Amino acid sequence: MVEMYRRPLTGWLDLSTYCNAGCPQCHRTNINGLDKVNWLQLIQWTFDDFKKAYPLRMLNMHKRFEICGTWGDPMMNKHIFKICEYIIKDGDCDVQINTNGSTRNPEWWWEFGVMGGEKLQVWFDVDGITQEMHSLYRQKTDLNLVKENIESYCMTNANACAHVIVFKHNQDYLYEIEELIRSLGIKGEIIFELSNRFSKGETFKFVNDKGINQELEQATIKDHPLINGQNPIRDHTWKKKKGILKHELHD
Ligand code: SF4
Repeated sequence: MVEMYRRPLTGWLDLSTYCNAGCPQCHRTNINGLDKVNWLQLIQWTFDDFKKAYPLRMLNMHKRFEICGTWGDPMMNKHIFKICEYIIKDGDCDVQINTNGSTRNPEWWWEFGVMGGEKLQVWFDVDGITQEMHSLYRQKTDLNLVKENIESYCMTNANACAHVIVFKHNQDYLYEIEELIRSLGIKGEIIFELSNRFSKGETFKFVNDKGINQELEQATIKDHPLINGQNPIRDHTWKKKKGILKHELHD
């Protein structure tokens, strides 16, 4: 009877509203200065909060946890290592994390990958081949640190994938971005996705953290061979069709 109900669930968690980045089209970003929007409270789950919400009995109902973060980057949570270790080791569940990858250092990422092994899958945001190209959208991130962190993590048995948001400023470099991502050791899926946040026109104006006016432009290409369409990120049927859930261990 217990087995019948074992592991039917996928959990989707937001563990933090903190973020090191200031992506202009993110829900949490104030486009005047790229800090968080005023009404957003800065909060994060502690390890104790997590264990209280998910005792082992609850963990055992899950096969997988997806930790993306609508309002912040999960890797900004101070307890993320312990929380993932508890989910993976004590709960025997898979974990998927989405991150800008520009936090912590290569040693930390290596230890994280060793801890998670094949039950861990991290999706890194890489939007360009140069700092300028990458950070026009991934503002306040450091592409060199992202690359070092990815390389270190990829030396472990953990799974790594990448997410690229396509704008006009990087649309002519998609093959080069793919090459960079592969050169860092990422063997999993790469999703190239057109930004869908141009509801007010083809340009998106903002003031960066140094007070300088900047703008993003909507991509003009629609059907590049690398663009996988819009990523319905919570649609597992779509992910299965694309083969993106192939690393899942509890199918
Ligand atoms: S890294 Fe993610 S959470 Fe942080 S500002 Fe960018 S889109 Fe938002």
